[in-house]
Amino acid sequence: MKHKMDKENFFYAMSKGNAPKLEVNLGDTVEIEAHDCFTGQITSEENGFSGVDWHQINPATGPVYINDVSPGDVLKVTVEKIEMGERGVMVTGPGMGVMGNRLKDTDIRIFNVDNEKGTVDFDGLTLPVNKMIGVIGVAPPNEAINNGTPDTHGGNMDAVKMTEGATLYLPVYHEGALFGLGDVHAAMADGEISVSGLEVESTVTVTFEKAESLKTYHPIITDKDGVYMMVSDKDLNLAVDQSVHKMIDLLQPHTNLSLSEITMLMSLTGQTQINQIVDPKKTARFFVPQHVLDHYGIQLK
Ligand code: CA
Ligand code: ZN
Repeated sequence: MKHKMDKENFFYAMSKGNAPKLEVNLGDTVEIEAHDCFTGQITSEENGFSGVDWHQINPATGPVYINDVSPGDVLKVTVEKIEMGERGVMVTGPGMGVMGNRLKDTDIRIFNVDNEKGTVDFDGLTLPVNKMIGVIGVAPPNEAINNGTPDTHGGNMDAVKMTEGATLYLPVYHEGALFGLGDVHAAMADGEISVSGLEVESTVTVTFEKAESLKTYHPIITDKDGVYMMVSDKDLNLAVDQSVHKMIDLLQPHTNLSLSEITMLMSLTGQTQINQIVDPKKTARFFVPQHVLDHYGIQLK
């Protein structure tokens, strides 16, 4: 069954206390409208930040209650389609992102996203869009977590790989999972160093299923290229280390490899990648290419 969800159903923190706004069944598809990460507050380069309420940042549309999904399950979310608005907003400034200690003034820029050509013009430089979902997740296990922060429940992971055709696996902590998404970017590079991507409003179509056998305590993405294990932590070193450990723990039981053997294999084929280094927790992503999974007959599902 197909559903639609209006962008006015949104929240700023993922929480078991958020009342469901839509109830769906496994196998259902939902077309989810989402505000940009400023909740549409920035409408011109001139309106500045004076008028922006910083509590109204990173809205996620939801929550969606998925029937027959219970704590201990792993929710499988496939991104069928991402449609974007034409107005892309960027900000940076003092205290924001990697350069925030040197920037003197807050700078807001608005770019036109050419959805037909799939490009954005930056100072005469034509950039391809690489649309992606910044905030996507379920209600976390304990207290509410602001949508600006990523963790085991998903949240503000800002993964460039979270795009059309990709599948996200999330641990479920509460009945119905209480899913939400928002913060779509028309473009962003790994790191998101300015603190913003090219922020757009969007309509995202996703299908909900339950993982058959896959177990995970951290978000996992699969796509045509392979599998990505994502771990967030205040300490990027720790996030990177843990993304390796969790990937090895995921894959090793599917092989006859000893711990030292799979460590060597990961050293040859696995890649340390970074989602973002600017959120309250930083997110590392460890990638293993599909041909390695195929060789061992590993089907993550
Ligand atoms: Ca984000
Ligand atoms: Zn964003």
